[in-house]
Amino acid sequence: MLLVRAGYPDVTIFERGERLGGVWAHNTYPGAACDVPSHLYEFSFEPNPRWSRRYAPQTEIQQYVEAVARRHGVLDRARTGTEVTRAHWDEQRAKWQLQTSSGSFEADILLTACGQLSIPKAPTINGLESFAGPVFHTAEWDHDVDLAGKRVAVIGTGCSAIQTVPAIQPLAEQIDVYQRSPGWTMPKMDFAYSDRAKRLFERFPAVQRLDRMATFAFMDIGAAAMTGQRWLLAPFRAAGRRQINKAINDSDLRATVTPTDEIGCKRIMLTDEWYPTLEKPNVELVDTRIQQVTPAGIRSEDGTERPADVIVLATGFESHAFVAPMEVIGADGQTLAEEWDPVARAYLGLSVPGFPNMFLLYGPNTNGGTGSVIYVIEAGVAHVIAALDELERRNADRIEIRRERADAFNRELRTALAGTVWHAGCTNWYVDENGNDASQWPWMWSAYRRRTRQLEPGAYELKARMLERAE
Ligand code: NAP
Repeated sequence: MLLVRAGYPDVTIFERGERLGGVWAHNTYPGAACDVPSHLYEFSFEPNPRWSRRYAPQTEIQQYVEAVARRHGVLDRARTGTEVTRAHWDEQRAKWQLQTSSGSFEADILLTACGQLSIPKAPTINGLESFAGPVFHTAEWDHDVDLAGKRVAVIGTGCSAIQTVPAIQPLAEQIDVYQRSPGWTMPKMDFAYSDRAKRLFERFPAVQRLDRMATFAFMDIGAAAMTGQRWLLAPFRAAGRRQINKAINDSDLRATVTPTDEIGCKRIMLTDEWYPTLEKPNVELVDTRIQQVTPAGIRSEDGTERPADVIVLATGFESHAFVAPMEVIGADGQTLAEEWDPVARAYLGLSVPGFPNMFLLYGPNTNGGTGSVIYVIEAGVAHVIAALDELERRNADRIEIRRERADAFNRELRTALAGTVWHAGCTNWYVDENGNDASQWPWMWSAYRRRTRQLEPGAYELKARMLERAE
């Protein structure tokens, strides 16, 4: 809709799912909610004064996304249930040729908005396929499986697990949570908005904007703390320790949940329920590594076998897959996967040399330890609009980031990343086993918006239509 507003109404959206919403359509696990305050996790041009809580639950975010899409005519432009399998740059026509599950399509500009957390990661655990009961990932929750009175094994203790375990604990007979390495948490301080508060936001939108600005400022300080100003982590670390000490009486459990790595290295998890849930009589935190899944349960490396009826994989996502499994072929016949070997990279996370007229929204290195993805995407779209305007202004039909500029940006990025908390020595989904980071933005969020707002002079090569024809 930002594109339409900017004067580019001829937009077609391909969505392989049956509905729009992305992660919010897919992640329907019990307890799913946002860990970014809703006044920041909403479109800047569509403030919603009626969020039920400070941190909206999944169903409400999904409703919001679809309502905004309906209101702005996005649904009319969307082809749901349509997967783009291949995109090929046609140099002759200066257009992208798309192959989709429902036919071919031609486009002047290709925007990818495939997310970073869309492909569930299936862990390689011995014997998993031999398990007799249901096994499902948090992002593919099987709502037909009734957990009442069941023994449930949950593998993983990341953001998804800490939300779903407290939600299913009252139902299940027993929950065994398999932890590989603990992450730091901080109080979420979630609360429901009263009707009075909602009316206030409705009548005085400036109040909501003020809250959004304050939340953004806090998040940007968090971004600084994880990147260039690591000394700012001290109060976060203290809050994390205080939460453990306050919530957990059992000293063994306290030791088991206390991370040895720096706060922020793994994503900080906001929760008020996780530790109290671990102390419930029907919950056991198992921190011995899994040796084998058997048909009837899970055996740990110390030889203990715990029976289970259901296994929930809260094991995260293939976060470095980006546009996969779509095959993208650039100007010289190379694929994006080849260009990205060994690590995905893009100028400002948006453009890749050799792939003209293509922009990646929430592309490589545009994730953070704080902040709102919506903000990042809006900043990316502003960059795309600046590029489209420049194409119009110069009567051109081809725009490509210069390789030397993309390489220089990549060097600057890698240097900055090396000093961030995400590379301080822990396992996280940002850095792969070879130390490659295709995920994180190593500066403040305000810097992302500033750098993407306009086209940096000389960064892109544009080819004019007339020039092209004369050549
Ligand atoms: P995650 O943070 O990648 O956590 C995966 C968990 O599974 C980790 O505890 C990991 O252990 C464990 N694990 C992976 N493979 C394993 C194996 N083979 N054996 C045992 N344990 C294994 O995934 P996530 O919890 O789904 O969260 C991913 C991201 O999604 C979050 O960081 C966040 O950005 C986003 N998210 C956001 C919200 C929200 O509120 N907005 C909610 C959920 C998720 P190690 O740590 O030792 O690797």
